Amino acid sequence: MEKERYDVIVAGAGPGGMACALYAARAGFSVVAIDQGAPGGQMTMTEKIDNYPGFPDGVDGNELAELMLKQTQRFGAEIAYGFITGVEKKDDGNIIVKLDEESVSCRAFVIATGAAPKELGVPGESKLRGRGVSYCAVCDGFFFKGQQVCVIGGGDAAVEEAVYLSNLCAKVTVIHRRDKLRAAKHAIDAALAHENIEFALNTKVLAVNGADGVESLRVADAVSGAERDIPCTGVFMYVGVNPISEFVRGAIEIDDYGFIKTSDEMETNIKGIYAVGDVRRPRNRQVATAVSDGATAALSIERVLNQQPDRFRK
Ligand code: NAP
Repeated sequence: MEKERYDVIVAGAGPGGMACALYAARAGFSVVAIDQGAPGGQMTMTEKIDNYPGFPDGVDGNELAELMLKQTQRFGAEIAYGFITGVEKKDDGNIIVKLDEESVSCRAFVIATGAAPKELGVPGESKLRGRGVSYCAVCDGFFFKGQQVCVIGGGDAAVEEAVYLSNLCAKVTVIHRRDKLRAAKHAIDAALAHENIEFALNTKVLAVNGADGVESLRVADAVSGAERDIPCTGVFMYVGVNPISEFVRGAIEIDDYGFIKTSDEMETNIKGIYAVGDVRRPRNRQVATAVSDGATAALSIERVLNQQPDRFRK
């Protein structure tokens, strides 16, 4: 970190975090966005973002992340690497953000840590993680060129990433536990147009089989209970996401699933602490909604900090 004290500290540099940092820095505040990985969050794991306004042909997730980063830095926001372990609001209004080896303080803290892929929790999954079991088609799909893979889940991510994999792999089997996909119609239609994508509906995954690498999936028909093996060398898990909020558990109000509760202004139950994007409660988890949350939080922070005499702008 370049300073010990900032007006605004943002935890996470995904679309919500970067939008917030961009708006706050443009308003003249000293801002740092701290991320434990490369800026961009889940965008960097997405081949094509089709529904972010302004890109009529869609945009590569990594490209959009880079564009957002450039714009955020143009307004002077600092982007730092770090692992945040906790946060504490002091009686004098200062907020202390604890990192692995240091602490920094601010007047407003924004949690934009997003969400991470859920594990399915079947035998063989952990053992074969990185050896055929993956949670990111864009990161690992290339290793399965010309091979047969399975995608688990029936949401937008599963169906969209199946399309991505179908352009690399010989065959993609989408395995979903119910008889109806949850994904949006346009995503399903796009998948149906690919002859090498097959859907196994009403199918439960029982285990990932293989010694040193994935060899097959053991599945059961959800209606008849009949079991079979689906041969494959890769398994891509898209069974939803978990919010990354563990580091504020106990300090801030979160729901039973770990999502942070906020007001319409994105403020949590603690004054001066905000949450935006996939880590907060509402259902919509889009790049566009994360960006909107980030902008809303920054504008709200601007109003509050401008009323405080002891602000410390850059
Ligand atoms: P999701 O929408 O929560 O879908 C998860 C899927 O995994 C569901 O089909 C669910 O089945 C299945 N599932 C969950 N637990 C399972 C288990 N234990 N065993 C078997 N299947 C299980 O998650 P997502 O697709 O990762 O998307 C996350 C969020 O990002 C969503 O809000 C989504 O709309 C958004 N997103 C949007 C886009 C886009 O708009 N282009 C792209 C990607 C993601 P059930 O259907 O039976 O519950």
